[in-house]
Amino acid sequence: MSARHVLTINAGSATLKFGLYEAGRPGAEPAQGWRITIDRLGTDAAELVATPVGGERIRRTLGARSHAADALGDLLDFLAQAAPGLAVAVVSHRVVHGGPDLRAPLAVEPALLEALRGFEPLAPLHQPHNIAGIEAAHAAFPDAMQVACFDTAFHRGQPKVNDVYALPPSFYDEGVRRYGFHGLSYEYIAARLPAVSPRLAAGRVVVAHLGSGASMCAIDAGRPVSSSMGFSALDGLPMGTRCGQIDPGVLLWLMQARGLDADAISRLLYHRSGLAGMSGVGADMRTLEASGEPAAAFAIEHFTTRIRRETGALAASAGGIDGMVFTAGIGENSARVRTDVLSGLRWLGFELDEAANAGGGRNGDGGIRRITTDGSALEAWVIPTDEESMLARHGLAVLEAAGDGNGRRVE
Ligand code: ADP
Repeated sequence: MSARHVLTINAGSATLKFGLYEAGRPGAEPAQGWRITIDRLGTDAAELVATPVGGERIRRTLGARSHAADALGDLLDFLAQAAPGLAVAVVSHRVVHGGPDLRAPLAVEPALLEALRGFEPLAPLHQPHNIAGIEAAHAAFPDAMQVACFDTAFHRGQPKVNDVYALPPSFYDEGVRRYGFHGLSYEYIAARLPAVSPRLAAGRVVVAHLGSGASMCAIDAGRPVSSSMGFSALDGLPMGTRCGQIDPGVLLWLMQARGLDADAISRLLYHRSGLAGMSGVGADMRTLEASGEPAAAFAIEHFTTRIRRETGALAASAGGIDGMVFTAGIGENSARVRTDVLSGLRWLGFELDEAANAGGGRNGDGGIRRITTDGSALEAWVIPTDEESMLARHGLAVLEAAGDGNGRRVE
C-alpha cells in the first residue's frame, strides 16, 4: 500500500503551525514526520521553520506573505522537495470554536463551514483565521478530506451547572455559555494519563495549560468537570497579554466613566493586559523571569497566585483533587512557576520534589515526569502537550470512519 499522509494545521493570525504524519494500518497511531511553522505572516519577513523528527531544523526566509493561502503555497513548495511521494489524504484543522453543539471532530462540508462562520463573533480573533486555513487547505489539497477539530468540544461534556452564567436562561439558549478552550490539549493529557498515572486517570485531576494563552480544567476520571475559561478566551487566568478574570463592573466603568467603546476595550483586554500589561516588560515568561524589574516579579507572583486560587476552585468543583498536571510552554518549562504554585499548595498535600522539578527538557519519556516526592499525598506531573498529534489522530479517525478514504468537497 502506498503512503497516506495526514497534515495538521493550527492557523493563527501571524503564525501557521503544521504537522505532517504518515498513516499506518487502520487503527494505528499516525507517525509524525515533520513539524513546520510559518511565522510573521503580514510582515515583509515571513519565515518557514521545518524540523523533521530526529533531524536538523531548516529555516527559509519567505519575504512578504499576508495570507494563509500564500503560506500554504510555500508549504507545498517545501514539501515537494522535502517529502517526495507526499499523498495528503486528510488535512486536520484546529478550530477554536465549535459552538454549543459540536462535540466531536467532523469532516468539513459546506453547511459546517457556514456554521463555523456563524461562530466568528464568539471568537473574533481566532475563528476567521481557522476558517481561512480550511479554505486555503482545500484549494491546496483539493482531493483531501478537511476535518475540523474544535477546542471547545472536550468541554461540551461538562455538567450544565458549570456551563452556565447566572443570567436569564434565554441567554444560555442564545449561546452565552462557558465554552472553555484548549480542549485538544486537555483531551491529549486525559488520553496520556492512564499510562502515566493510573491513579490520576481514574481520579480528579486539575490540569494547568500555561502557554501564551492559559487556562485550567478539572477532569474527573477522564471527563471534563469545569474550566477556568468561559464564553471567551479572556476569562480565568491572566495570560501573556489577556487580562483573565475581571469584574464586569470594570467594563461598565470603562464605558461609562472613561467613554471607551467596544474596540478600545477589546484592545485593552486582549492585547494590553496580562503579564505584558502588568509588568511593562513583555508577555513572554522567559523575559519576565530574566528581568530585574520589580513589576515583572510582581506579575509572576500574581500569575501563580491566580493559578493557586483556580486550583482550589476547580478542586472544589470536582469534589476533591488527586493531583495536578502542568503543560504548555510555561507549564512544561518554568520550574519557578511550578515551584511558586506547588509550594503554596503544600497545605493541600503537594510535596514538591525540587530536583525533579528543576530537571527540564523533553528527555526521558518525552519530558513526562513526576515533580512531587514519593511520600507526597497528591501527585503533580509535567506532561508536555501535543495538540498536533491529537489533530492527526482525529483527522485519520474521521477519514477512516468515512470508509472510502477519498476526499470530500468543501466548496
Ligand atoms: P502558545 O502555543 O499559546 O503560543 P506556548 O505553549 O508555546 O504558547 O507557551 C509560550 C509561553 O511559554 C511563553 O510565555 C514562553 O515564555 C513560555 N516559555 C517557553 N519556554 C520557557 C522556559 N524555558 N521558561 C519559562 N517560560 C518558557
